[in-house]
Amino acid sequence: VLPPSDVHPELDILVQDGLIVTMDDRSTLLDRGHVAIKDGFIVDVVPVEPDRPVPDAREVIDASHHIVMPGLINGHTHAATVLFRGFADDRPLASWLEDYIWPAEGTFVEPQSVYWATLLALVEMIKGGTTTVLDMYFHQDVVARAVEEAGIRAVLGEVLFDVAGPVNAPFPEGLARTEELLHAYANHPLISPSVQPHSAYTVSVHNLVRSKALADEHGALLGLHLAETADEVWQIREKTSLTPVAFLHELNLLGERTVIYHGVHLDEEEMDILAETGASVIHCPEANLKLGSGIAPVPALRRHGVDVGLGTDGPASNNDFDLWGEVGMAVKLPRGMSRDLGSMAAQEAIEMATREGSRALGLADRVGSLTPGRQADLILIDLDQPHLTPMYDPISHLAYAVGRSDVRTVIVRGRVLMKDRELQTIDRDEVMSHVRKISGRIADWLDGR
Ligand SMILES: [Zn+2]
Repeated sequence: VLPPSDVHPELDILVQDGLIVTMDDRSTLLDRGHVAIKDGFIVDVVPVEPDRPVPDAREVIDASHHIVMPGLINGHTHAATVLFRGFADDRPLASWLEDYIWPAEGTFVEPQSVYWATLLALVEMIKGGTTTVLDMYFHQDVVARAVEEAGIRAVLGEVLFDVAGPVNAPFPEGLARTEELLHAYANHPLISPSVQPHSAYTVSVHNLVRSKALADEHGALLGLHLAETADEVWQIREKTSLTPVAFLHELNLLGERTVIYHGVHLDEEEMDILAETGASVIHCPEANLKLGSGIAPVPALRRHGVDVGLGTDGPASNNDFDLWGEVGMAVKLPRGMSRDLGSMAAQEAIEMATREGSRALGLADRVGSLTPGRQADLILIDLDQPHLTPMYDPISHLAYAVGRSDVRTVIVRGRVLMKDRELQTIDRDEVMSHVRKISGRIADWLDGR
């Protein structure tokens, strides 16, 4: 085997001398290793060896005293709802939606506010180590612009409802916007357009089937909220005499490119169907706890062979984009529920935030692990911290001790988005000042209620 310096004479970036947590199929760890990056791709992940020359690179990033790992994948959110973070919290769900969120969205959600709010959300995500986000919201053309400026990776879909609401267009117009997105971002290096009907209780059978047909036509992901609350399950049963998953299956909506958000209330038969069809689930434990929805049967789902990724859901119901918190919850909730330490391993929860999440979103060939040939989406975590000292086991720290502020450097597709905690693509102060102007108007509106 030739040393890397001979194989790749001119690397773009060499991430040097880090503790490499590859999250590859064998969960390979390198105590001291290099990650070599060229043209946006990982070309080498190799241990440091005394007699192996260090390859040349345009930019060398010193990763000593750092964990180097794949960036985190947020499988479900509504980024621009950061405008409504902490807004009318803890009211009963129906009133929260009908008296506050929907009227406020009707008043304040327009392209400019979605643009600034999405950028703010992306700042928070990048600073916390997220490199891929799936977003379902309005004005996705504007969201796509923010994503391109930030340089993060995203799966985007206009949220589709049957009838026009305070913000959304009626279904045909929403679907037309989706189709525009599918054309505009076909084969884009960072953006994967997708089809995102809101749920099986807000979108009719006819329109769900049309959504799936459009997704299939473009080889795109189909994503929707499903089985989030017991009330929703009851509504679908009332109307169809089927469980939510059986209902989708009957409509031929489930397949390898289908992802459901939440999946809190699922029975064994539904898990069998998800496994057989290859559909995936995004687990949003903190949002489910905060809204009192329940706890998803994640160990059982994974035992059935269903891929489960992690998501934060929107910041109106979480209230942040902190995937480290979701990883911790994903380990501890099943153990507390089952009183069984073995029900979820730390390693498994980190897989859900990386490799397994990439499978759930149909991005497994691109991201999710530090493997040569994958795109270079990776983060550096600073171990020179009191709360990370001592360190015997990096996996334990990643699941139980690392937080967002420990993420020092973030790279997406070979581009440095944050270096030593300094954002490289977005002006944080400008974004915050725009969002504060909008939120000032929202606060006045709230006072007048
Ligand atoms: Zn959601």
